[in-house]
Amino acid sequence: MSKEIKKTPSAYDYQLLIKHIFNAPIYYDPDQEIVYRNLKRLTYREFKERVHRIAHGLKSMGIGPGKTVGVMDWDTHRYLELYFAVPMMGAILHTINVRLSAEQILYTINHAEDDILFVNKDFLPLYEAVKDNLGTVKKVVLLTDDENDKLASKFDGEYESLVKGSNNSYNFPDFDENTRATTFYTTGTTGSPKGVYFSHRQLVLHSIVILAGGAAIATHRRMGTDIVYMPLTPMFHVHAWGYPYFMTMLGVKQVYPGRYEVPLILELIKKEGVTLTHTVPTIAQMILTAKEAETVDLSKLRLTIGGAALTESLCKMSLDRGIDVTNGDGMSETCPVIDATYLKSYMSNWSKEKQIKIRCKTGQPMGLTYIEIIDLNGKFLPHDGVSEGEIVVRSPWLTQGYFKDPARSEELWKDGWLHTGDIGYIDPEGYVKITERLKDVIKTGGEWISSLQLEDIITQHEAVNEAAVIGIPDEKWDERPLAVVTVKDNYKGKISGKELKEFFIRFVDQNVIPKWAVPDRVEIVDAIPKTSVGKIDKKVVRQWYKQ
Ligand code: AMP
Repeated sequence: MSKEIKKTPSAYDYQLLIKHIFNAPIYYDPDQEIVYRNLKRLTYREFKERVHRIAHGLKSMGIGPGKTVGVMDWDTHRYLELYFAVPMMGAILHTINVRLSAEQILYTINHAEDDILFVNKDFLPLYEAVKDNLGTVKKVVLLTDDENDKLASKFDGEYESLVKGSNNSYNFPDFDENTRATTFYTTGTTGSPKGVYFSHRQLVLHSIVILAGGAAIATHRRMGTDIVYMPLTPMFHVHAWGYPYFMTMLGVKQVYPGRYEVPLILELIKKEGVTLTHTVPTIAQMILTAKEAETVDLSKLRLTIGGAALTESLCKMSLDRGIDVTNGDGMSETCPVIDATYLKSYMSNWSKEKQIKIRCKTGQPMGLTYIEIIDLNGKFLPHDGVSEGEIVVRSPWLTQGYFKDPARSEELWKDGWLHTGDIGYIDPEGYVKITERLKDVIKTGGEWISSLQLEDIITQHEAVNEAAVIGIPDEKWDERPLAVVTVKDNYKGKISGKELKEFFIRFVDQNVIPKWAVPDRVEIVDAIPKTSVGKIDKKVVRQWYKQ
């Protein structure tokens, strides 16, 4: 029989808490910098002090263990401070997905039961649209770059004054490592966003393992203490893939670009010497093809693409600029990183063309992570590069359910594996490749649109009989929604796709969907294909429009 270790009563019961990864870099390199645009430079020493101060500020507003803090911000040093201060107090950080519609944002704030909100000045129109229907929010704090902003008087506080007016030493408590640290919402097929959540233990393990892989694997530029990091996936989207936590843990120079503006991003890469970033294909493409990129040396950059497939053309374009590019996969449900297309040692002297094939797979599992593919009966399929099935995962950092949603939680975790809703194969070398999507959502520019919600809208039009909304491949946005509809007999030949498209705009005006969710086209067809059980067969519809 196995034997548990014995603990002497005085042994410190070390829990894997975010405060422990926060404390480390202060000793490595306290003068290393954290930079925000062209506006602010902090040393880690100052950063540490500000985290302690904002914790006091939060406390003065009633935040403590179990409370929830919602944040609507771009990628800023202030967001980074809240990434640490909020969970370290035992409270929960809700990184509000600002790309959802106002109606969905309101749903997430009420569903997460946010106690206070931090709102960047740029998101005030969104806040205005939801503020009268907030159920649990007691206080609202303004985030602004202008320290004398007159708007501040309209709120319960302003971030910088809270920092200034507070004590610089906060006693972050010990608690169980399974305490909830963060929450984020992802768009579901039913239209109502689903809340995922992560504990301190999960975020610490995610940090250690992803960093260890990045630092150790010799076939790529290593994530050492000499790198300069800049996020290019938003901090509101699954912890910017967790990087701000482990980059802070490593104590490297970090550059936060605020709102993404390509010329500024390129200027910061050049001026600050950025060597590590990660983003979705759309943004990478915009950066690489920008006029300003012509004069920026990108040859020291290590770039991870994720959120959608890395195409061979984007991969080649990156390699041609000297960028060490790899693909990786993850979901909001998975914290998010689960795999990456690291080259194996024997591939390092392969030709560029041969390497591209590997770099553009989806990835091989990260440490401590298991990825399998299963058929419709839940049977595991061989890793032969041919058999395709649903991708399922086990790892210590996967959301343990959807917040306050037991039915969908059980669906997600059927038979003890997290079901990704992605279809793919695993090749004999261990690389996963996503080939199709089971889940009925469309991904455009890194964010989801619920196809069911769009179908729901268009079928409210009196002319529409049936509708199928699918994502079609798009060079710039990865996917764009396309609505395929049949119309009632008395409308045949009397209504156009253009008129039907305009119908969606009403729902944008009512804040039901964001503007970018409006399908590019509405196609009127004679019939929509059905499966043997009479359900709309989107696989066939997708096939129609594949090109
Ligand atoms: P999200 O929850 O918004 O992070 O989206 C996760 C989903 O994006 C995955 O389940 C995939 O469908 C898709 N995705 C993420 N990374 C990749 C990738 N490297 N290749 C293809 N699809 C991806």
